[in-house]
Amino acid sequence: MGTDYEKLLEKAYAELPSKETNGNGAGKGRFEVPKVKTHAQGNKTVIDNFYEIAKTIGRDPEQFVKRFLKILGTPGDITKSALILGRIISEETINEKLNDYVKRFVLCSSCGKPDTQITIEHKLDVMKCYACGTKKVIWLFILLKNCNKSFINKHQ
Ligand SMILES: [Zn+2]
Repeated sequence: MGTDYEKLLEKAYAELPSKETNGNGAGKGRFEVPKVKTHAQGNKTVIDNFYEIAKTIGRDPEQFVKRFLKILGTPGDITKSALILGRIISEETINEKLNDYVKRFVLCSSCGKPDTQITIEHKLDVMKCYACGTKKVIWLFILLKNCNKSFINKHQ
């Protein structure tokens, strides 16, 4: 599907000075997953810095929330300033799940850098890394998580 625009974009990203992340992403300038700040509202949990997190991990809030709620296993609503989860969940658990999300949907599995973007190609979610050029279909992740091994083997 590579359009000229995409190629230009890739080239532009490739030429950006890398933010001291040399050496398999293990350098000191490593990307850090932000920590959530929450407060309880009745029997719900409000993530106060939701938009800040979305920005830090470079994800569109709508796109981020869709998968994040699935990982959390709870319904939720985005307001203008926060994400409200449908039940009480501890900060610790949310941070854990956020780490999970970032590992699956933000960090490149090849180079470990967060310079990725998710686009839809042929109805599949494709994660593309602008640091190393890796492209990977990611739609199966959620599914795989909820399935047993035999299902996975059958579908590999
Ligand atoms: Zn990469």
